[in-house]
Parts: sequence; C-alpha cells; structure tokens
Amino acid sequence: MAIKLNENPALGDFLVIDKGVEVGGTWRDNTYPGAACDVPSQLYSFSFSPNRDWSRSFSPQPEIHAYMKRVAEEAGVLDRFRFGVSVESAAWDEADNVWRISTTAGEISANVLVTGSGGLSEPKLPEIDGIDTFAGEIFHSARWNHDYDLTGKRVAIIGTGASSIQIVPEVAKKVAHLDVYQRTAPWVLPRNDRAYLGVEKLGFRFVPGFQKAYRTAIYWALESRVPMFTGQLPQMRIAATAMAKRNIAKGITDPELRKTVTPDFEIGCKRVLISNAYYPALARDNVDVVTDGITEITPTGLVTSDGTIREVDAIIVATGFYTTDQPIAAHVKGLDGRTLADAWSEHGMAAYKGTTISGFPNLFQIVGPNTGLSHSSMVFIIESQIAYAISALTTMKAKHIASVEPLRAAQEEWNADLQSRMQRTVWNSGGCASWYLDEHGKNTILWPRSTFKFRQLLSTFDIDSYVTTPSKEQVA
Ligand code: NAP
Repeated sequence: MAIKLNENPALGDFLVIDKGVEVGGTWRDNTYPGAACDVPSQLYSFSFSPNRDWSRSFSPQPEIHAYMKRVAEEAGVLDRFRFGVSVESAAWDEADNVWRISTTAGEISANVLVTGSGGLSEPKLPEIDGIDTFAGEIFHSARWNHDYDLTGKRVAIIGTGASSIQIVPEVAKKVAHLDVYQRTAPWVLPRNDRAYLGVEKLGFRFVPGFQKAYRTAIYWALESRVPMFTGQLPQMRIAATAMAKRNIAKGITDPELRKTVTPDFEIGCKRVLISNAYYPALARDNVDVVTDGITEITPTGLVTSDGTIREVDAIIVATGFYTTDQPIAAHVKGLDGRTLADAWSEHGMAAYKGTTISGFPNLFQIVGPNTGLSHSSMVFIIESQIAYAISALTTMKAKHIASVEPLRAAQEEWNADLQSRMQRTVWNSGGCASWYLDEHGKNTILWPRSTFKFRQLLSTFDIDSYVTTPSKEQVA
C-alpha cells in the first residue's frame, strides 16, 4: 500500500504506523525454527517486484523477510514508517471528515485510514487451568524465545496446525523428549520443496518473460484446486485424501500411530498442510503424540484427562491466532462512535468487497472479512485490495469527494451472496471446527470463489455502491 501511494503522489501524503520494529508483519514475527511459506515462492511475491533470488521453490522465513525489507527499501518508502508505535484508537470525525487517531506517539488525523494489521497477528493462548503457574519456559510459536536453548530438554508442544508441523521436525532433532499434544489431527500432503537449479536461477535473472511464465503456471495450477474446496468438484478430495494417507504411510510404520494421526473430517475442511518431515518426526523414539485433552498445567508439567502427568522443562504454545475477532476492531470507531467490534458483535465480521464497511467512512481494510485463501497466495488478494483502494482515492480526488462509505444494501447483498456460496464449501460442511468459523459457525475468513473473480470484482472503484460526501471546496 505504501509503495502504491508513493507511486501516486497526487493522492496526498501518507504515514504508516507499525507496532513492530521493522517491516515484515507475519514474516518478522514468526521466526520459529522451520518457518517457511506453504505457497510457492514465485507466487508469494509482489507482481511489481519479482524476486530473482529465491533459493527454493518454497521460501524459508528469513528469505521472505529479507525480500520484504529490500522491496520497501528500494521503493524508498521506509522513511514514511513509524515503527514501535501502536494505534490506541481511531475515531471518525464526521464534522471534519477525518479520522482522529491516538497513537502511543501522539495524536494524528487522516482523511483515510487503511488497516493492514493482519489476519494472523495476535497470538491466541489456550485457556488451560494453571497455565500461568508453569515454572519452566513457555512461549507462543509467533513469539519464539531464541535465548532459550531447547537442546537436551523435555518439551511439550500444544497444537498441530501449520506452525506446529513446521516446528516439530526441527525441535525433535535437538530435545531429549517431545510430547506433541494433538487435539485434532490435520491432513498433511507432501511438500514438493526443492532448491532451484542453477539453470532456473539463470532463467529467472536473464531470460525475459521466463519468471513471469513460471509464476503464471503456478497461479493456474493452484487456482485449479478451487472446486475441490468450493464444492463444484468434491471428487478431487478423494485423490487428495489418498495422497495424504500415502504421506502418513510413508512417514510412519507403526499402525497405532498411523491411526492416531489420521484425521476424521474431510480434507480441506481445515487448512491442508504440507510437509515431508512431520510424520517421520512423530515416529522418532523421543517423540510421543498425546491425544488425551489437557486438563491442567502445573508448575512442572501437563496433566491430561486420563490423569497422566507429563513433566517438562518447556512448553511451546502453537495454538494459533485471534482470527474471527479481529484485534483492531475494538479500537476503530465509525459513525455514532460505534466500534467495528460493536458493528460485528451480532452477526460476525462483514464488509463490502472485504475492504470497506458500512458505518465506517474512508476506512479500507487490507485482508478484511472473507478475503482469506486456503489454496493460493494472499499476496494476490492484497494487491487486488490495494488497487481497489487506490482506485477509490483517485475517484475521490477527481470528483472532489471527502468521504465514501458503502451502502448498507450493497454490503448486505455482497455478504448474502458470499454466505450462500459458502454453504456448499468443505470449510462449512466438512465436519471440522477451524479458525475460519466464528462463534456462530459462520465463515467470515475465507473467499469462496476464484482469486481472478475477486480481482475482477475489485478492479475499479464502484462509486454507485457508496454514500459520498462532497469535499468542502466543492460545496463552497
Ligand atoms: P492453527 O492452525 O489455528 O492451529 C492451532 C492448533 O492448536 C490446532 O491444532 C488446534 O487444535 C490447537 N489448539 C488450539 N487450542 C488448543 C487447546 N486449548 N488445547 C489443545 N490444542 C489446541 O494455528 P497455526 O498453526 O499457528 O496456523 C495458523 C495459520 O497461519 C495457518 O492455518 C496458516 O494460514 C498460517 N500459517 C502458514 C504457514 C505457512 O505458510 N507455512 C505456517 C504457519 C502458519 P484444533 O485443530 O483442535 O483446534
């Protein structure tokens, strides 16, 4: 967003507030051993800034973070960032058509507020009795304590999601013993990860069009999987399930353990994970998979429902993030002083085109409600939303408009269509609980159509779907 605003200076001045110490978001915060992207590198990069230097087909976290820092630096936008500053509140001032924003570094006002605060940014800790009393080392996967050496220790990891399955193989190698607390077994497909060949790297660098063609091929390969999730081609799930079961059989020989790690819901219902190292790690002699629920944590260990106490030196909490209750929502106040959290309290998160929200003029959310993907690159969605916001700002400038707010009817129509499509998706009907569903069982996270449809629908700012206020000079 900063780069695109910088490329359009006529749209006005801008400032980026980030509570972190540098750019990178999730790739700055998630530094756990084994952290890497599940989306192929070529697609997990900005279309306007291809990376000729990816070392592998799936990039490790340090490379992605370095790429992001380089892109921001080369675009010359870093001096617009204020790092280490948090937004305490942002309130829409209807009289002056500005956002009044209180930050830990003082007050500012802005005509337009864009939130890029992320869908997976606020660690969610499990509510387990006694967790605060644990006397050993305990940290969340997204807040890894690199000062604590796990070598030779007895360790527990809670959770078996995307973060955990990357952590387990790395940690298992160095600890004395690892207990993996599995509440729900995930489906895990093989990870076709490999180092790029020299000839490919040369191609990316020197052959015009090669990298773009490569990226386009990956885009369509991933896009072809949409019908598997959205219900048009559920048969695709049969082949995927067989592949996942082969992955279990390849990594684990013990029939009991195979059974323990085989999920009992339809593939795709939760995020499909990819790893070649997870199952072999679970099969190691120093690793146990614990499926009894954790009832209590004592100062020295974890107690499960069967009464067993397992003593450990450290607990890794890989229990995910606040997702359907967006952390920034309580801090953003729109018309009549209503917060986003208030507006969403009854029926869950909802927006127009995942980006703008009725009752909240001049607010744009990057990665807002129902923009998430389970099959492709979020960078594609993010770029679509940024283009939409830039188109809105351009329209506002050209037509001397001070504020835009989506019509309630437009937002309702958008969400009614979206939720009716959602009914036949595997996320809603596959027999699992996941972070895609809110407390009412409503999927307010994912986009239930193709990504090209999303891009098409957001290709230009559709002012007819908005309530607008003319700018003061226009009125005068
Ligand atoms: P997650 O997918 O939400 O997984 C959380 C895990 O913790 C689940 O296994 C969950 O079990 C378990 N859990 C939660 N509360 C628990 C409790 N009280 N007791 C026992 N177990 C509990 O979180 P995540 O692994 O951090 O991943 C979040 C998302 O981040 C991913 O889905 C993905 O979109 C993204 N991510 C991507 C990558 C990548 O690209 N490689 C890597 C990491 C994360 P249940 O299943 O039973 O709820």
